[in-house]
Amino acid sequence: MPLYQLSKEGIILFENLRFLDTTLRDGEQTPGVALSTDDKIKIATALDDLGVHVIEAGSAVTSAGERAAIKAVAGLGLNAEICSYCRMRTDDIDLALECDVDSVHLVVPSSNLHIETKLKKDIRNKQDREDVLRMAGEVAEYAKAHGLIVEFSAEDASRADFKFLKELYASGTDNGADRLCFCDTVGMLTPERTFTIFSELSYSANAPVSVHCHNDFGLATANTIAAFRAGAAQGHVTINGVGERSGNASLEEVVVQLEHLYGMNTGIKTKNLYQISRLVSRLMNIPVAPNKALVGGNSFTHEAGIHVHDLVKNTASYEPISPEFVGRTRRIVLGKHAGASSIDLALTELRLDANPAQKQEIFKRVKEMGDKGLRVTDADLQTIAESVLEIHCEPTVKLRSFSAVSGRPSIPMASVILEVNGKEEVCVDTGNGPVDAAIRAIRRAVSSLGDIVLEEYHVDAITGGTDALVEVTIKMSKDGKVITSRGARTDIIEASVEAVINGMNRLI
Ligand code: MN
Repeated sequence: MPLYQLSKEGIILFENLRFLDTTLRDGEQTPGVALSTDDKIKIATALDDLGVHVIEAGSAVTSAGERAAIKAVAGLGLNAEICSYCRMRTDDIDLALECDVDSVHLVVPSSNLHIETKLKKDIRNKQDREDVLRMAGEVAEYAKAHGLIVEFSAEDASRADFKFLKELYASGTDNGADRLCFCDTVGMLTPERTFTIFSELSYSANAPVSVHCHNDFGLATANTIAAFRAGAAQGHVTINGVGERSGNASLEEVVVQLEHLYGMNTGIKTKNLYQISRLVSRLMNIPVAPNKALVGGNSFTHEAGIHVHDLVKNTASYEPISPEFVGRTRRIVLGKHAGASSIDLALTELRLDANPAQKQEIFKRVKEMGDKGLRVTDADLQTIAESVLEIHCEPTVKLRSFSAVSGRPSIPMASVILEVNGKEEVCVDTGNGPVDAAIRAIRRAVSSLGDIVLEEYHVDAITGGTDALVEVTIKMSKDGKVITSRGARTDIIEASVEAVINGMNRLI
């Protein structure tokens, strides 16, 4: 039995799938996240370039600042439809109108639990039931009368009475709603139940139906796919699966699954996925788990060993898709378990040719580092390889001098003098501490070289005591390429500066 069937119907249903991205609304509701207008503009522009159909830019009722941000996004002239979240209130619709959005995601409570909590009504009571249906219809009609596209959304639909839910949807479409949405607000659906529900809803409703899944049980992506298979027209997704609690269905997972496991062309520019994942992670300050599907740090990283031995012959042996599909590159991590084949593959990734004797020498030096308990960073391997192969690379970025100051009360501040492509760059910056200030100053000095992102920063004291040798290991990226590098000094600021400059030279 196949896990799925590409029936004739299935393929037809998959043809016009749409994606509503709610990174800027549900995603921003992630605890502790607040995006500035500038951040929202950056993310919306990237989402539009990615090819999503609708961008839910925020919730107009939140604040004046939020409205300014939504309005700014709506004013960008993007291809995507720009949408604001609204509650079942005409004054929410008025605030959305102030933002010049194309559409509203009008969310009405549908489970009795939510109706009792929010509206103090009980749908088992005939009058209350009619009141809720009327109120929902009136707000939809109001939004339509003001020229908005209306996505009429049933909140907590997975815990609603199904008969009432269909009456609620009818009150939406009877009053002009353009689309309907089924929200699995607390992530209670299973793929099987989703399939059953959408098989009924998709064909009986008078408008296309969207699915909005949450990941409380880790099923958001599977449920979204199940809804699509049963006729859902649009999926609500977020980059990296960010969102309230355990988040929403992740855009990259849903899209790449449809493309690779279901043979569908989604129209999404998948080569942009890694870059936008990094952008959202950085601006929201939410790290992506290393084992996250497709965009996690380890998704296309291979540690030395028998896997790498086979990868050398055929990368497909331990990779389901090529990393380039999502805009990434393969990484080979070397250490004391490194085998000759890992070195081979790592050299191939660095585009370096070595003869057998040179490979043997590189292998020996990597092993020596591993035996000393050191992690062999990408920069280390490159340095070893270049020295064995007698390649002399003039570094693009050279440190001439730096100084950093800290204290209390004073603002930590650093200045650097670098040589970048032979040209002197002098930069000063402040930061949370002297290390942060120094790294900021360096990044500022090399800004002409493109967008280099510091992904991870890690400090180890190698020996005890305050005079210890400090080892700083960092991970940096540029245009989807990720590298690791190291600096080791007794001075933590110097070790950080060294690691960052080493890493930059390897990235460029
Ligand atoms: Mn939600």
